[in-house]
Amino acid sequence: MPLHTLSEYEKLAAEAHGHLCAGQILGLRMALYGVKLLGLEDPAGADRKRLVTFVEIDRCATDAIPIVTGCRLGKRALKFRDFGKVAATFCDLRDDRAVRLAARESARERARQLYPEVVSKNQQQMQAYREMADHELFDTEWVRVRIGPQDLPGYKAPRVLCAECGEGVSFGREVLREGRPLCRACAGERYYEPL
Ligand SMILES: [Zn+2]
Ligand SMILES: [Zn+2]
Repeated sequence: MPLHTLSEYEKLAAEAHGHLCAGQILGLRMALYGVKLLGLEDPAGADRKRLVTFVEIDRCATDAIPIVTGCRLGKRALKFRDFGKVAATFCDLRDDRAVRLAARESARERARQLYPEVVSKNQQQMQAYREMADHELFDTEWVRVRIGPQDLPGYKAPRVLCAECGEGVSFGREVLREGRPLCRACAGERYYEPL
């Protein structure tokens, strides 16, 4: 679907996220600016196979990004790197270029200056983030992202059974230990402890 207006995206984001908030608007603006810089006119439609997005925080802004880009975790087009930063990198696979946008710390202060009369921080930032210029909201950096074929949508690899727990591992995510294929949990990266 070709690009909508911000207010149309706000409706879709509110539905998907459960509420509309400053973080959602920031995420929408970030995604709109990212695809604009890459020159993608229909990111969620005709151009959908060109785009992979990396997000760096699991907060409101992140939920808004797929509304514009169509990049979803389950489609392998959304990658999460838990850096705790309101930042995202938009990668155009066809033209092999990528741009990273980071929310500027000064944006909150700018929102205070623009709408000092609005008491609620969230309302204040929502109004300001709708209107502020892209360069006031984001720091922009062109970057190179190396995405291996195993990380791309459509990658095919045989599923391997872990020699320890027997669970299937896709996309070459197994590790070899003394010649045995192990899942990452059995190889020592387990984030849970069996009871
Ligand atoms: Zn929110
Ligand atoms: Zn295992």
